[in-house]
Parts: sequence; structure tokens; C-alpha cells
Amino acid sequence: MNRYISLILAFVSIVSALSLPVQAQQRAKKSNVILFIADGAGFATFSAAADYQTGSPTGLPYMSKPWNLYSCSTYSIDGEYEPEEMWSSFKKQLSNATDSAAAATAINTGVKTDNGSLGMDDDQEWLETFAEMAAKKGFACGSVTSVQVAHATPGGVAGHVDSRREGSRIFEQSLNSGALSVMIGCGHPQYDRQGALTTGDALSRKSSDDYYFSADGKKHYLEYNVFGPSKRQWEKIQKGELPEGWEFIEAREDFQRIAKDPGEAPKKLLGIARSHVSFTYDDRNKQRQVIPTVPTLAEASLAALNVLNQNRKGFYLMIEGGAVDTCNHTNNLPGMLVEMREFNAAIAAVCDWVEKNSSWEETLVIITSDHETGALWGPNADKSDSLFQTIQFNGKGVLPTYKYYYGNHTNQLVPVYVRGKDASLFEKCIRGTDPFFGKLWNYDGRYIDNTDFIQVMTYVMGL
Ligand SMILES: [Zn+2]
Repeated sequence: MNRYISLILAFVSIVSALSLPVQAQQRAKKSNVILFIADGAGFATFSAAADYQTGSPTGLPYMSKPWNLYSCSTYSIDGEYEPEEMWSSFKKQLSNATDSAAAATAINTGVKTDNGSLGMDDDQEWLETFAEMAAKKGFACGSVTSVQVAHATPGGVAGHVDSRREGSRIFEQSLNSGALSVMIGCGHPQYDRQGALTTGDALSRKSSDDYYFSADGKKHYLEYNVFGPSKRQWEKIQKGELPEGWEFIEAREDFQRIAKDPGEAPKKLLGIARSHVSFTYDDRNKQRQVIPTVPTLAEASLAALNVLNQNRKGFYLMIEGGAVDTCNHTNNLPGMLVEMREFNAAIAAVCDWVEKNSSWEETLVIITSDHETGALWGPNADKSDSLFQTIQFNGKGVLPTYKYYYGNHTNQLVPVYVRGKDASLFEKCIRGTDPFFGKLWNYDGRYIDNTDFIQVMTYVMGL
């Protein structure tokens, strides 16, 4: 039922969008859409990172004009977002949450689906993604992530599976889709969670829970065919047997080389960095560290832009800070701040790139999240006399005072920061207003739904 309402609303919005005074003749020659997704980041996560980095919870460049801030509902296919009901109890926010696969599907296709499904509706029917539509019209498309290359969020750009666990299928579909010119992420089968080279033996292991002990007694985890190439695909990649036009890189220096010099950019780029994800895992000690042999998200994003920008019509690039979610799941706030720092550095680098190599007239940048994770609030947010107390900021370089109330996803609104080409179209997508939540986070409380992004993106590209 929800899906049909969504489709009708989408149609009404598109019709009204087309009558906007933004005229076709004023359009710049190229059209680019860059979509940033901090996986699992709600308002508290974005604000905590901003305060820790700048001394103000709204201190990052994209948090003030000329950027605009909206919010977005992310509820699951069986759920809804009703502002009044939402804040009727503290627990209400914990139900009807989406997962990253369904959210990626909503963002990339405009259709809500079952949690776990990617690019398929709830009847297991194949849905065309934005990248697939854009590629048909001659645009270049790609995905970059700090986690595994075929994880749910990057997988949603051109993958079609009933289960997000089918990582090697997602990988194969994306690589062979014809829709993508860039796939960058981690999930390198020969490197473990600490970015250490594994033994040959390790390559035959199959499940995400597999691990082995090296000679020094250290435990090494492997995720060989989960969210990345299968063994057979990996053997082909190593032999250079890639679809036409693709080049494979894995060394950080190669990402840096292409990031620095557009002349070094191949036609199509598959980059699998030498680790499981970009960060070491140490959730017990509430830490995360960047693995120095892995490109930063900023380097990976710039490399992607230099590849995609060869296209004369323009491009769509999805960039994910993918491990923010895993830190919020494990309630690892210091680790989350490390990952948000990397995400924010990528935003800064990309905005700088837009100003030097493109313009805000031809490029739309969207910064958002797929859902909130962890129910991150102030320390007494569930007590009646301080109900919904927000996280308490303590200034630059000092951890905020906080408490996580959950280890999973929530149904909170997430922020949407927009700037650039046709960014005013988001005004046409407003579904409602949540005055209570808006007051908590110092904005007007207006929200779109995650099925609305595609309307704006298709308009920007003229699809
Ligand atoms: Zn998650």
C-alpha cells in the first residue's frame, strides 16, 4: 500500500517540479550528482562529529549557508513516520526501522522494499536504479565506500538481490551491469581486518565468521566472498580478465596517483583496497584506527571523480562512510568520531574538487544518511524529567556526554544537507514537519522521505 502512495506522491511532485521557474535553457552543460551517505548517522552523530572537530555542533562548512538543511524519514516498508506518535514514548523510535539494503533501494529506485532486499521490490521484482537510468542516457556512474565494495549501500547503486548477504552476486552484477564506471571499496580477499596480508590458505575460506591463526598466534578474520568478489571472480581479476575498459588497482599509491592527476584516470576503475574495511576494529576498547595502507575516503573519492569526470554529459557518484554504522551498533562513540572525521574530510575534498573542476551550477551535492543507529542521546534522555535530552556537547577535541540506548537501527529522521544544481527542488519534496524534533536540532523540522531523492536526481540529470 505504502508503495502506491509513494508512487502517486512521486508523480505529483515530479509534475510540480517540472513547473518550477528553473528553466531548461539555464542548465549548465554538464549535470553531476554526488550523494554522500554516512551509514547509520542521525542528527546526534553528525552534530557530535561537528562539535568534536570544530567546537560547534553546527560548525562544519556544510552545516550553514549556502547549504540547506532538511531531514528525511527512513521508515521500513511496513512502517510510517508520524511525528506526534513518534515522541509519545521514548521506545517508539526503535520500531519500524529500515536496514541499509532497503534504504539504499529506496534512495536509488524510489521504492520501499523488505529489509535485506537490494534493487528488488517486496514481490521480488527487479527495480531499475537511478544509476541504470542515468547510464542509459550516457552518464557515468560509480560508488565509493570505506567498507566492503559490495556491501549493502554501494550494492544498492546497481545490485539486484533478495538478500544483501549475496555479496559476490552483488559484486558481479555491479561490475557487469554496464551502469557503473567506478567501484571502489575494501573487502580485499587477501587482507584481514587489520590490513595485514593473509596466507594463501585463507583464500579458500568462505564465510564471514571464518578466521585463522597465523604463526604468531594472532587471530585473523576473513570475509572472502561476503560483500566482495567470489574466489572465481578474484582469480579473474588477478589475471586481468575484467569487462571491457576496466582497470583494477589495490595499492594506496595507485588511488593517490589517480586522485592527483586526471590524466592518470582509466576509463573504468575497480579499486579494492588492501583490507577488510578502512579501519581497524577495536570496539571493546572503543577505538578505531585508519589503516595506513588503505586510501582515505577522500583519496578514493577524488580518484572516482577523476574517472567519472571524463564523461561529457556528467556523472552520478555515491560516496559512503560505511563504518559509522558499525561503530554506532557497538556503541563505540570515539570510533564513530574517527569514521565521521574521515567522512567529513572526504566531503571537504569533494567540495574543493567541485569548485576547481566543476561548479555548483552543474553539480548537486547531497549529504545524508540511510538511517540512525544506536539511539544516541544525552545521558538521561529516557528519564521523565529530562525526556529526549540531546547529546551534550563539550567542545573541540573533548568527547560529548552521551548514552546509546540501542544496538540497532532506529526510525529517527536523518539530516539532509544540500547544495548546488537544482537544490531548491527539495522544497517540492517536503512530506511533513516534525516541530518537536526540529526544535531539538535547531531546524524547521521539515522532512522528505528517502524515496524522494530519485525525483530530484532524475530532474537534475534531465532523465
Ligand atoms: Zn546497521
